Amino acid sequence: MMSIFINGWDTNLKFAAAHFIPEHSKCKRLHGHDYAIDLKIYGELENGMVADFVQVKKELRAMLEDVDHRLILPLNGEGIKHRKENGKYYISYEKYEMVVPEEFVFLCDVSHSSSEELARFFSHELLRRVKFGKNVKRIELSVYEGPGQRATWEEDIQ
Ligand SMILES: [Zn+2]
Repeated sequence: MMSIFINGWDTNLKFAAAHFIPEHSKCKRLHGHDYAIDLKIYGELENGMVADFVQVKKELRAMLEDVDHRLILPLNGEGIKHRKENGKYYISYEKYEMVVPEEFVFLCDVSHSSSEELARFFSHELLRRVKFGKNVKRIELSVYEGPGQRATWEEDIQ
């Protein structure tokens, strides 16, 4: 099978964001990363292509713009409580409390903002935004938390 590959560091599919992971010794403290997304698309050739690089990158960029320079707040965060009131999020976990303006928050449908869960979330989000041809069989999307380490979600489609 043929595949195409998009390297997020080289093609500027990057974002910066803050997050925290309760119960983790160090990651429970609010901190941030430079993230990047790699994408591999497997499929048969159709008109000489697996998928349109330009269109896929455009959708990925639009998707990442929503999260760029925001706090990633898990929608169903394990051990995290949040409520929105008067344009602010009131966030609490363990003994900690934060109040963050709504426009600084990216509410994300995960239970932990780990790179593993973010990889699965972005894969589903990409499949929602891009209607791939029937020739496309599988995607692998990786989320880097800084250079050198990544988590990958793999999904067969159709
Ligand atoms: Zn982190």
